[in-house]
Amino acid sequence: MYRYNCEFRPRFLVRHLCIFGALVVSMTASSVYATQTSNWAGDFAPCANRSELLKHGPMSLGVKFSTSNHAIEREFRKAMDFWASIVDMNWHEDEGSSCAINVVDGTPEILKNAVIARSQFPEWDNFQGWIAFDAHAPLSKFEMYVTAVHEIGHLLGLKHNPDASSIMYFLDLEGPEVVDHQDILSLASRHLLRIPANHEAIPVGKRIPLFQAGAPDDGDAPVRAVASPTALTKKH
Ligand SMILES: [Zn+2]
Repeated sequence: MYRYNCEFRPRFLVRHLCIFGALVVSMTASSVYATQTSNWAGDFAPCANRSELLKHGPMSLGVKFSTSNHAIEREFRKAMDFWASIVDMNWHEDEGSSCAINVVDGTPEILKNAVIARSQFPEWDNFQGWIAFDAHAPLSKFEMYVTAVHEIGHLLGLKHNPDASSIMYFLDLEGPEVVDHQDILSLASRHLLRIPANHEAIPVGKRIPLFQAGAPDDGDAPVRAVASPTALTKKH
C-alpha cells in the first residue's frame, strides 16, 4: 500500500496524468513523503479552536468561511452535515477567531499540479485548521461536495484509502464513493461515532448522469458536459 501524501483531489479529467505522477512519486520519493510532518503555510486567519478536531469526545466545530466562492461554501456546509451524521460532532458558522476550521481560497503555491483542494493534517506541525480550495476551478456542485467531504475527512484524521471506491481515495474518480469499513474503523479510533464501528459502507452521494444535463435541479452536469479537458486543466 503506498501513500501519496499530497492530500489532493485532482479532477477525474486529469486522473491519468495524476496516477502516473503518483506512481513516480511513490517509487522515487516515498521516503520524503513518509517523513513529512509539517503542514503547508499561508497568509490566512488561524482558528483558535482547531484543537477541537483532535478531541475524541463530542466536537463542537466553528467553521469560518473565507472563500470567495459561495458555491463552495454551500457544498461545504452539506459536507459538514454529512460528517455530523457519522461522527459525534456539531458545527456552526463562526466568522471570528474562535473557529476550528477556516475555508480559504488556495493560492497557486498551495494548490500545485492540478490540485483543486488541500487540507491540513491536524497531527502535523503548523496546523491552523485550514482547508484551501481553488475558488476558480470549474467544478460541478457535486464535485465541490465530494471534494469537501474528502478534505473534511482529512481534518477528522483520515489518511488516503487505497480502495478506489472510498471517498478518501486520493483521486476523484467517476462512480459511487463511500465512507468504507476501513474509513469507519479509522474514524472510530479517533472520535466518538454516531454509528457502530462495524457499520456497513456509507454512500457519500449520488452522481448525476451526464444524460440528465439540464435537468432542473442538477445545475452542474452541463459544466462537465461542455468543457473540454484542455479548458479545464488550463485553469490551473
Ligand atoms: Zn486527500
